[in-house]
Amino acid sequence: MHGHAINSVQLLKEAGLRVTPQREVILQFLMDYQGHATVDEIYRSVHPTFPSMSVSTVYNTVKNFAQLGLVKEITVGDGPSRFDINVKPHHHLVCVKCGALIDFYMEEQPKFQLPPEATGFEIEDYHVEVKGICPACRGKSAG
Ligand SMILES: [Zn+2]
Ligand SMILES: [Zn+2]
Repeated sequence: MHGHAINSVQLLKEAGLRVTPQREVILQFLMDYQGHATVDEIYRSVHPTFPSMSVSTVYNTVKNFAQLGLVKEITVGDGPSRFDINVKPHHHLVCVKCGALIDFYMEEQPKFQLPPEATGFEIEDYHVEVKGICPACRGKSAG
C-alpha cells in the first residue's frame, strides 16, 4: 500500500503526544514491521539505538499508543500482548503450530445471535480469531 506516506512524527502529533526519540523509534519500528510485535521484539530491535531504554519503558509506551488508538493490542490465548499498527477493523488467522498471526477482513458484519439477557447490548467492537495451520507449517509437515 503506497501513496499516503504518513510518518511516525505526524502520527504522534495527531495523537496529541509529545514527540520524543523513544516514542518515535518505537512507532517507526511498528510501522516498518507491519505485523504483530511483542514488547520483547520491540525492545530487542530498539535496544541497539537506545541501550538505556528499559523493557518497561517500551511496554508503557506501546500501552499508551494502544490507549490512544495508534496501535491495536492483541492477545491470542495466553500468549503475550502483541501490538498491531493495523488499526482498521480486522481479524486474525492464528497458526496453532508456529503462532503466526495473519490479518484478514470481513466484508459484512456477522449476524450475532445474542442470548435474551443481552438484548439491547450494543456491540462496539469484536475480533474473530480463526485457528488453523499456516501454509508454511503445512508445507513442513508435508515434507
Ligand atoms: Zn505456522
Ligand atoms: Zn492484525
